[in-house]
Amino acid sequence: MEALETAPRRCALQLAALAVQDRLNAANSDWQGPRLPCTCGQPARHASRRAKTFITTLGPLELHRAYYHCAACKAGFFPRDRSLGLERSSRSPATTRMVGTAAACASFANASELLDDLAGLRVSPKQVERVAEALGREIDAAKRPHRVPRYRRQRRAREQERAAGQAAGRFRQDPFPCPSQH
Ligand SMILES: [Zn+2]
Repeated sequence: MEALETAPRRCALQLAALAVQDRLNAANSDWQGPRLPCTCGQPARHASRRAKTFITTLGPLELHRAYYHCAACKAGFFPRDRSLGLERSSRSPATTRMVGTAAACASFANASELLDDLAGLRVSPKQVERVAEALGREIDAAKRPHRVPRYRRQRRAREQERAAGQAAGRFRQDPFPCPSQH
């Protein structure tokens, strides 16, 4: 009976993985024009489409994504990775959550075996350990007070300076404006 269940289950997962992969690769909706704003404030230029294999709960998916590069800060990004929560990992968020749950319940070696047995996920004990450590760092970071990135602080300071300059200009033009009559 077990063979009757496990083989079709693996087959169904592979078919589902292929369907999701084809659907995502067929849609070029992540191409959002020749330029997109970078987090530094400058425009990033569309450079190419790049493929990457992601580990998901359905199995590995090879996704082709639009890549944008910013000449100002030399950073690159993939809008699709951002929208799917894949920006900082080659594992899908559901996979990461699954690995984290297993790591919380068992040793890294046992968690690795459990993931293979129960979900058909091939994750080595070392990878389980890395995911658990990364999740621990994220939880620690979420507990720390929020820090505003330096470029945002600088932009905010420039905006405040400009607003103060404009207010001073208005004051110089008409230091005691008459209240408007209604
Ligand atoms: Zn940039």
